[in-house]
Amino acid sequence: MQPARIKVKEKKYLQILWDDSSTSEIMLANLRRQCPCAVCAAEKETESSSYVPIYSEQQLTLKSVQSVGNYAIGVIWGDDHNTGIYDFSYLKQLSEQRARN
Ligand SMILES: [Zn+2]
Repeated sequence: MQPARIKVKEKKYLQILWDDSSTSEIMLANLRRQCPCAVCAAEKETESSSYVPIYSEQQLTLKSVQSVGNYAIGVIWGDDHNTGIYDFSYLKQLSEQRARN
């Protein structure tokens, strides 16, 4: 499955329209918190599980989204954090988490 269109809505969440015409919506705060890059993973490991990071507005602003190969998107945040690569199945997983909450 491929994203047909990706956009940021209300500066709050990422909306992904898939080519099977399903839609995923992921809060930017959630997207940032679940950043899969090594830096963020290491940070999470050193914190307790109840730790909830507070992000600045800049850190929750998406500067740009680009496709990575044909399996993932890379995002650049307002604070220039750009090492997170979100593959499509991971994005699906994140949006389903939100749906359950
Ligand atoms: Zn990261």
